[in-house]
Amino acid sequence: MIRSSPDLKKRLVLVTGASRGIGAATARKFAQQGHPVILTAYGKPALDSVAAEIKANGGTAHVIPADLSGSKKAKEFIQNVLRRHPDLCAAVLNAGVAVEGAFTDRDPESFLDEFQVNYFAPIAIAHELALHWMRNKNSGSIIAVSSVTSTVPFPGHANYGASKAALNQMLRNMRFEIASANNIHVGIVMPGYTETAMTANLESVLPGSAPEFIAETVWDSFNQEILESIAGLDNKLVAGMFRFFPALSDKLLQLSASVLVPRKKK
Ligand code: NAP
Repeated sequence: MIRSSPDLKKRLVLVTGASRGIGAATARKFAQQGHPVILTAYGKPALDSVAAEIKANGGTAHVIPADLSGSKKAKEFIQNVLRRHPDLCAAVLNAGVAVEGAFTDRDPESFLDEFQVNYFAPIAIAHELALHWMRNKNSGSIIAVSSVTSTVPFPGHANYGASKAALNQMLRNMRFEIASANNIHVGIVMPGYTETAMTANLESVLPGSAPEFIAETVWDSFNQEILESIAGLDNKLVAGMFRFFPALSDKLLQLSASVLVPRKKK
């Protein structure tokens, strides 16, 4: 467990999408554990208030706002971060967007929008970080906040789930190609329904997870170098069902979707 070693514990961690929800909870968690954090998202005022809260609790937080849509902007962003903070030791790639819409209601031309934020940007950051750490012979950790919808159909969020599945698969290949030889941890955290601004227009019979619960899962992935984590027993069970019994799971989902799947508020 190299992440727990005292010198690494104090090293700098980047959290994207840190202005609210899972990202803000994750930034607070790493700061509580003694890590200085770099907070990024598009909107600066919300980042400033998360940074102020971390500082008020004795932590260290830097704010670097950026539009992380697409690989070009993301690459420029991370190069700028590394110029200012070459000692960056970990990145939580959490910024994401979800566009609601049934498969046939959406124009396929719009599918790229979610991929720009959920796939191309985090992959560009991971790519640049891996090269940086390999050049400098440093260890490092990349943890992507993906989604259980990458493994299980979530009606109304087909393209969102597809963008997260693409993210997972690229990171698995990245892990295979470079990670063990270069001491780089690549973790994938897959939350289920979590109560944040992203899901504020959905309603559900079952309660969602708290962002703090997902932040704990991200922390464990970093601290214990866990490769893949599905947050919550219910989500683990559903993902396992779909993996091993896809036809049966599909039927069960058709029957239970109106009760179990969060839907758009009327
Ligand atoms: P959220 O409350 O909507 O927060 C999203 C964060 O991403 C915000 O900080 C937002 O900041 C940032 N962001 C979005 N687009 C951006 C862009 N173009 N450039 C820079 N930052 C951008 O969502 P959340 O629920 O905490 O979600 C966090 C992650 O968890 C996402 O990757 C999401 O897909 C994943 N997830 C969420 C759930 C859930 O049920 N909530 C479930 C599974 C996975 P700005 O608005 O300032 O850009």
